Amino acid sequence: MIDLRSDTVTRPTPAMREAMFAAEVGDDVYGDDLTVNKLQERVAALFGKEAALFTPTGSLSNQLAIRSLVAPGEELLTETQSHIVRAELGAGAVFSGITTRTWPAKNGLLQAADPLAIASPDAGPYLVSTKAIAVENTHNFGGGTVQPISEIALLRDESSKLGLSMHLDGARIWNAHVASGVSFKEYGSHFDTVSVCFSKGLGAPVGSMMLGTHEVVENARRWRKRYGAGMRQIGILAAAVDYALDHNIERLAQDHQRARTIAEALSRISDAFIDPSSVQTNIVAIDVSHTSTSAGQLVSTLKDHGILAGAMGSKLLRFVTHMDFTDKELEQVLEILPKALGKL
Ligand SMILES: *Cc1c(COP(=O)(O)O)cnc(C)c1O
Repeated sequence: MIDLRSDTVTRPTPAMREAMFAAEVGDDVYGDDLTVNKLQERVAALFGKEAALFTPTGSLSNQLAIRSLVAPGEELLTETQSHIVRAELGAGAVFSGITTRTWPAKNGLLQAADPLAIASPDAGPYLVSTKAIAVENTHNFGGGTVQPISEIALLRDESSKLGLSMHLDGARIWNAHVASGVSFKEYGSHFDTVSVCFSKGLGAPVGSMMLGTHEVVENARRWRKRYGAGMRQIGILAAAVDYALDHNIERLAQDHQRARTIAEALSRISDAFIDPSSVQTNIVAIDVSHTSTSAGQLVSTLKDHGILAGAMGSKLLRFVTHMDFTDKELEQVLEILPKALGKL
C-alpha cells in the first residue's frame, strides 16, 4: 500500500532511532531531562520566543496556548475550517470555556480584513468580548496553503491596536518556511503564542511544542500536568525531534515537488479535480463535486488500486506527501490515477 493519508504515517529511520537510543534522559516532571530541556531552548530560540514546552500532541499545544490568551466566556476568532475548531473535538469549550466565532476563507487563506471585520474587543456587559485570533499556517483543510506574510503582519498591527493577542497554529510551519523562504523568527515575531508539530513532515514519532513568554510557558507547564500529560524520560522523544530538525527541514521541498507532480497529473485527467497552482506544499486536495462519486467511494476505489487517501468531506479528499513516500511510489501513483479516476 502507498500511504498518502497523512504526513503523520512516517516511521522513524534507523539514524533517528540511533539518536533516540543514545539520548541522555531524566524525569521531566522534575525538570531533570536535559535532552528535552535543551530542545525546548533550541526551538524557542529558533522562533525568537522566550520559552517552549514539549507536548505529546499539537492539539494539546494549541489548547495550552489559547487558554493562556482567552479566559472562560471570552472569544477566540479563527478560520471556519481551522484545526482548532474542526479537529480538536471542542476542547477549547470543554476544558477552557472558550467561545469561538469563525470567518470563512477560500483555501483557508488569510486576509487580515476578515477577522478584523468580526472582532469585537471590549464588547461591554451584553456581548462576548474577543480576546485573540488564531491563524493556521500552513492551512491543513485549505490544502496546505501558505499564509501571506504581508497579511499576517497587517493583522498583527491592526489587532494589537485593538488589544487582541495572536496564536499561530504552526503544525506545518516547517512546510510554510520551506515554500515561502520566510524565517521562523519572522513568523514567531507576529504571534504571542506558537504551536508546532514534529510528528508531521519532520518525521518524528511523537511530539509538538508550545512557545511563548516565560510566564505563559511556566503556567502551561502546570496545565499540561493537570491535563494528565506530564511526562517522564521524554529525552528519547526529544532526541528524535533534535535529529529531525537537523536533517528533515530542507528535504520538505521534495515533498512539495512530488505533491505538485501529482496535482498536475490529476488536472490532466480533469481540471475540475484541482488547480495545480494552488498546491504550495505537501497536501493535494481533490475536489470530486463535478462527479457522481463521493470522497468515501473514491477512497475505497483508490485503496483497491493500492493507494490510501484521506476523505476530508463528502466531496473532498486528500493526498499528503511525506518522507516515506518515494520516487518509485510516485511513478506508481502516476500510473494508477488515470485508471482509478479516468472514468468518473
Ligand atoms: C495535525 C495538526 C495539529 C495537531 O494534531 P495532533 O494530532 O493533536 O498532534 C494541529 N493543527 C493542525 C493544522 C494540524 O494539521
